[in-house]
Amino acid sequence: MDELKERIRKDGTVINSEILKVDRFLNHQIDPQLMKKIGKAFAKHFQNAGITKVLTIESSGIAPALMTGLEMNVPVLFARKKKSLTINEDSLTTDVYSFTKKVHNTIFLEKDTIIKEDHVLIIDDFLANGEAALGLTRLVDLAGAAVSGIGIVIEKSFQQGRGRLDRAGYAVYSLARIASLNDHHVQFLD
Ligand code: 5GP
Repeated sequence: MDELKERIRKDGTVINSEILKVDRFLNHQIDPQLMKKIGKAFAKHFQNAGITKVLTIESSGIAPALMTGLEMNVPVLFARKKKSLTINEDSLTTDVYSFTKKVHNTIFLEKDTIIKEDHVLIIDDFLANGEAALGLTRLVDLAGAAVSGIGIVIEKSFQQGRGRLDRAGYAVYSLARIASLNDHHVQFLD
């Protein structure tokens, strides 16, 4: 997605060879017009996948996931990183290691929000080592439903996540693929 790549070049900050900061349009301040286009791009790519629900993880996945669900006219769910008082004891849970925060989080999904018949599209803002996306696939497995696609806004292709998801057999679609973040410069793959 050319507009996204231009925006990354213009407003992204390379923190080091592994981390890109995009908090002027995606992770903190959000550009709704760009999110709308991101939602349209995911909806177009997965239009024939029979998607019935979009699933993401709080908080940065919510904006692109919401716009995708709006475009596809399906509900949007986000896994919680903290157990809220309102969540039932029999919720679905799995452990995920956070790449940016270097901590293990248990993530939660209320039981019955995803049913066996669902075809779930997983959306996230970044793909690094694939921990978040694989954690979400485990929640879908626990619900007995199918993962029918994974949409990533920014894939750092030099890290392990893409290979892990490909090897697990998921249909992954990334809107911007980064080959390297060397010398404070973003090099895209294609
Ligand atoms: P993974 O689980 O694939 O290792 O990492 C993906 C998660 O870590 C995403 O949900 C995202 O929040 C965060 N993340 C990974 N790499 C980056 C990065 O370079 N920049 C930012 N802002 N977040 C990242």
